[in-house]
Amino acid sequence: MLGDATLQLDGRVRIEQTRMMYRTPAVPLLNVLAAGIAAAAMSGAYPAIVLVGWLAAFVLVAAWRVHLWYGFHRIDAAVDSEYWRHRFVAGAIAMGCLWGLTASVVFVTPDPGYHVFAVFVVGGMTLAAVVSHATYMPAVYGFTLPIIMPMAIVLFAKGDARSVEMALLLLVFSAVLAVAGRSMHRWIESTTRLQIEREQLIARLQSATETLEREISTSHEREETLQAITAALEDQSRSVHLLNGMVQRLQEATTDQELTEIVGGYAPQIVPGRPGVLFLMNNSQNLLTVLASWGDPVGTEMDFPPDNCWALRRSQPHLMPAGGREVRCQHVQPTFSGGYACYPLLGRGGIVGLLYIEADNAAAGQDEGLNAFASNLGLALANYRLREALRVMSLRDPLTGLFNRRYLEETLVLEFGRASRANDGIGVIVGDLDHFKRLNDTHGHDGGDAALRAVAQVLVGNVRKGDIACRHGGEEFVLVLPGATLEQTHERAEELRRTLAQLEVPFHGKLISPITMSIGVAVYPRHGSSPDAVLRQADKAMYQAKQNGRDRVVVAGTFESVSG
Ligand code: GH3
Ligand code: MG
Ligand code: MG
Repeated sequence: MLGDATLQLDGRVRIEQTRMMYRTPAVPLLNVLAAGIAAAAMSGAYPAIVLVGWLAAFVLVAAWRVHLWYGFHRIDAAVDSEYWRHRFVAGAIAMGCLWGLTASVVFVTPDPGYHVFAVFVVGGMTLAAVVSHATYMPAVYGFTLPIIMPMAIVLFAKGDARSVEMALLLLVFSAVLAVAGRSMHRWIESTTRLQIEREQLIARLQSATETLEREISTSHEREETLQAITAALEDQSRSVHLLNGMVQRLQEATTDQELTEIVGGYAPQIVPGRPGVLFLMNNSQNLLTVLASWGDPVGTEMDFPPDNCWALRRSQPHLMPAGGREVRCQHVQPTFSGGYACYPLLGRGGIVGLLYIEADNAAAGQDEGLNAFASNLGLALANYRLREALRVMSLRDPLTGLFNRRYLEETLVLEFGRASRANDGIGVIVGDLDHFKRLNDTHGHDGGDAALRAVAQVLVGNVRKGDIACRHGGEEFVLVLPGATLEQTHERAEELRRTLAQLEVPFHGKLISPITMSIGVAVYPRHGSSPDAVLRQADKAMYQAKQNGRDRVVVAGTFESVSG
């Protein structure tokens, strides 16, 4: 349809005309029928052999024209319409010539009846030709001229008045038919033209509609793409929002337990549908342990040395698609066939942990979300480590590593609260080194420091789980024993005193000794209901020990001393 529309309109019209010319094989067949009737009518004038020959010629021409018709309909005749038009006109001329032979009747018989009959036949056939071939005027002329002309000439040649009149009438009649034929032809042509123009218009309309529909569907596609982009952006901003929320909370976290809860709560939202584990590197950098896990990961061991992970060995993400050819990490079970990804978590000082994610496709390509998740986790963990270090620094005495006075005060408040609720006791031991100024004078300040560190070691070696050993300031120490009775506290103080008395601290080739301590003991609730009161009582007892001669333990509220 579209190809036809591009053809020239005239070309299309001619093709349509040709189709009309070959619409039916009836015309040649009717010619044979008419010739048969005419032959029968003139059997008196011609010898039978002539008529049979004439008829046979009709049959031959008709057969050829039917053959042409058949051929036209078998192939796509529109391609070469010129060829078929010429063949059609040739067929018309051949038939016209055969009809023209009827003019010979004028010579064959003087009977005017035959002459009139012949003129009647010639006129009738001319009329029929105009009606049937008006589509294409050359066919009309090709058929009618060989019929009319011989008859007119012969009649003129005969010369008698009637014959001349008949000849003139024949010519006039033919001229009228020719004029009528031409206008019929014009009408057919303009109708065909209109028809074709209408078809072309419809075709153009159809193609415009199709284009419009295509454009509409393209705009639908564009809208869908836009929607997909919007959804992706929303997704991204959602995960950025979640990441921010997680990072903010991680910055406030003060214990490993809190880290576990925060990561365990956020990770399933940030990487939905992907089980994973967050591993933390220990301080000695030789073991990874689970800090948090979510979504039931099945593929990895839960603690392993850093060398068992390719991501940690190479300090870059190790992506392993399901059934992929990448080398498998040693911490991943050999039986695990799914995909996984390991992201090293890098802080300022190096690797602080590992993010392990299980997903068949997560490992397949670069995942922006996972990368962002990993880098945020890394920074948050590094921060947490740093804050922990600062916190420890603020709570510990830098010389001895024991807790400092601030920590002691904070913890005592908590311990007293707990003990009062549990109806429990707390033992407090306050100790002050004897004649420390002298020790400093003898061995120098560095020697004094060495002695203080050694005393701290003894204290740490003496405390049990839950006990708190502090350097209260200078050469004064405090031991807190939650849950201890007065007797137990007293006993522990005595033990401590004895151990210290035997201490020898090597310093610059000499041994610093003896190092003795005067100790005061008090307990909650017997000697006071507040940390301050109990500490004060223990302190008083310690001074009493000094007064009593040093290197001894005194229990608060008594002036009895246990001497060494
Ligand atoms: P006493 O038996 O009466 O307690 O005698 P003392 O010499 O220990 O008494 P005093 O409390 O007057 O002296 C404590 C000394 O401890 C004073 C100070 O030089 C020393 N000292 C305090 N802190 C440090 C420290 O961090 N390093 C060293 N080397 N000495 C310290
Ligand atoms: Mg002192
Ligand atoms: Mg002292």
